[in-house]
Amino acid sequence: MKVIQHSAQTLQTALVSDHQGLAKVYREYTKEERCLLEEGFHPGEPGSLFQPITVHSDSDWIPAHPEEPQDFESFYRDPYRKTPNASHNTIYIQTIGSFGEAGVQTDQYVEWLRQYSQAFFYGLSVKLLPAVTVAETGCSFRVNSNTHNLQILTGDLLRFLGNKKPKDAFCIVGITMIDLYPKDSWNFVFGQASLSMGMGVFSFARYDDSFYSRDYAERLRKRLQPKQGDYSVFDGYYTPPISSTLLLRSCKTMTHEIGHMFGIRHCQWLNCIMQGSNHLEESDRRPLDFCPICLRKLQVSVGFKIGERYKALLHWMEEDQRQTPRAEEAVAHQSALYLPKPTGAFHASKLWLCRCLDILEKRVAHPCCTHH
Ligand SMILES: [Zn+2]
Ligand SMILES: [Zn+2]
Repeated sequence: MKVIQHSAQTLQTALVSDHQGLAKVYREYTKEERCLLEEGFHPGEPGSLFQPITVHSDSDWIPAHPEEPQDFESFYRDPYRKTPNASHNTIYIQTIGSFGEAGVQTDQYVEWLRQYSQAFFYGLSVKLLPAVTVAETGCSFRVNSNTHNLQILTGDLLRFLGNKKPKDAFCIVGITMIDLYPKDSWNFVFGQASLSMGMGVFSFARYDDSFYSRDYAERLRKRLQPKQGDYSVFDGYYTPPISSTLLLRSCKTMTHEIGHMFGIRHCQWLNCIMQGSNHLEESDRRPLDFCPICLRKLQVSVGFKIGERYKALLHWMEEDQRQTPRAEEAVAHQSALYLPKPTGAFHASKLWLCRCLDILEKRVAHPCCTHH
């Protein structure tokens, strides 16, 4: 295992920039906001809010895909990056196929993702387009010869999304529980995006713990020999059970991929949601939120107050616990419609958000604040 440890000076330049104008804009953050962001200059120290990146093997993203690191200044100056504006300020989510075992679960699951994304991209509105079946997209599909599961073709889905993209969209993302492939010669892909078109499609199929296990439900149920254009194979097709881990992984993928739509590239500075990931274990290792450098990139794109965004995220994680009367009522009526939000896997992130808010709301005498 190798720790990628940048010097405090390197991290400061990556966040603040040596350019006078950008450094001046940085000083417009409140003292508390700067304290929080500058926690990132000393990653991995005892009690630090941020950690350095660790490379565990050659199959991790950074050794496998060398990329130019993107600091705040190069992000800011990228002529191709897209910024939301008054007429393009909505993120649209298009569900393709079912999630969970019943329609009501799909609706609830996607609504949780919508609310989470809206807190994450605080200040933008996130809307759901009415869910579509695989048949409605008219996409090509196949059975993967190794895993024997159904896969749908990303290029066809992107074409479908392009036609459906509303006028006020900042971007449109398609999400599905069905596995994806980008071309015949590829085994699979987690997702594919077109940044210039502001759209992407992502699958959560491989975030099911049992995907790689031998009893992956669909594989055993029937060996499919589907005919192109006969979408009946997707009726009642296995989708992963909704769990806290699946929700956590879905939230991470969604926000990482939407983050790219703003022109934020893979993070090579600190442990961060924008780190590239080559496999599930690496993706699980990523934290749920941005490092300070990527946070500043999003903040200048959207213009939110950092503390308000953290509060919205915390609210999303705590919401169900506060809604106990609703839960009790649902149990009393034996309502099948009530699904409690499974946020157990978000516990560490919740504590982290509280610590960030302690600094922003001056509940702790932060060493950095008392020095100045
Ligand atoms: Zn990425
Ligand atoms: Zn980052």
